Amino acid sequence: MDAGEGFTQSSWERYSRQILFYGIGADGQKALLRSRVAIVGCGALGSFQAAALARAGVGRITIIDRDFVEPSNLQRQWLFEERDAAEAIPKAIAAERHLARINSSVSVHGVVADLTPANAAALLGETDLILDGTDNFEARYLINDYAVKLGVPWIYGAAVGSYGLAMPVFPGRTACLRCVYPEPPTGVQPTCETAGVLNVITSLVASIQVAAALQILSGHTADVDPRITRVELWTGRIRQTSVPARDPECPTCVRREFPFLAESRRAPAGLCGRNAVQIHERECALDLAALRARLEPLGEVRANEFALRFVIAPYEMTVFPDGRAIIKGTSDAGVARSLYARYIGV
Ligand SMILES: [Zn+2]
Repeated sequence: MDAGEGFTQSSWERYSRQILFYGIGADGQKALLRSRVAIVGCGALGSFQAAALARAGVGRITIIDRDFVEPSNLQRQWLFEERDAAEAIPKAIAAERHLARINSSVSVHGVVADLTPANAAALLGETDLILDGTDNFEARYLINDYAVKLGVPWIYGAAVGSYGLAMPVFPGRTACLRCVYPEPPTGVQPTCETAGVLNVITSLVASIQVAAALQILSGHTADVDPRITRVELWTGRIRQTSVPARDPECPTCVRREFPFLAESRRAPAGLCGRNAVQIHERECALDLAALRARLEPLGEVRANEFALRFVIAPYEMTVFPDGRAIIKGTSDAGVARSLYARYIGV
């Protein structure tokens, strides 16, 4: 039954509070229903983003994630339940199932995969917007290359401890990730696994990302004020600054070089005949003593100046000062990269 303005009665009722909201309106809601979004990473940020966008009626949502739900996720990964962790369901699949119960009228596609240069085009496909729900810079620089190359907006978000940050990127119009941070950080970075995380910093950062997403997808891109929002929740500090001007020498959005999309950059190697993967594509100096201090509360660590060995059952990671690592206990490159991102944090 047509309820007017081209909506069915059920759509009209379901989205009435958004249609009433001056920023979205009937035309904005129709645009949301037609829109396509890709969410990369379905942890704390991604699961919140996915639920909010499904409830808002975003028509097609693709969720890409390489991990399984674990008990330690439940404190902050908003979509998941104890049963998902007990059964070790892949996050992309668990998210797809839960979202189908939240809003059966939108199309949600969960993809269990590690986003790589080789599969980025196939997995991200034609999309109106990419949301960063990842936990590592490697993936963010890859998203930035892909988004700038295709001219698709994306929204960077990150959270660790009680600190979080969000920044929208409009390729060709505002600074891209490499204009602001020309190179990925080097050395050991704090991660949720090593420094912990307050659950509400993730929902706050994800909310800022989703607000910009709703503006973009409802046809109000011009309303997005490109700002970097930095929040330190435990001490109650919120700071917003304008995104800096584009770097006239930016290799990505000016010179249009896309090294993070080049397949040669990264290719973890399964070690023949061993249940192990070598991560050899990282080139960054690691301070093994600092890494040891971070990892000691989490598992058995032994280190000397040449290597650090960390046991987190059923895996064993051997990390070298040049950033190389051997992950034993898996032959899956995606699992190995996930462990590297979580515990080494680069
Ligand atoms: Zn740039």
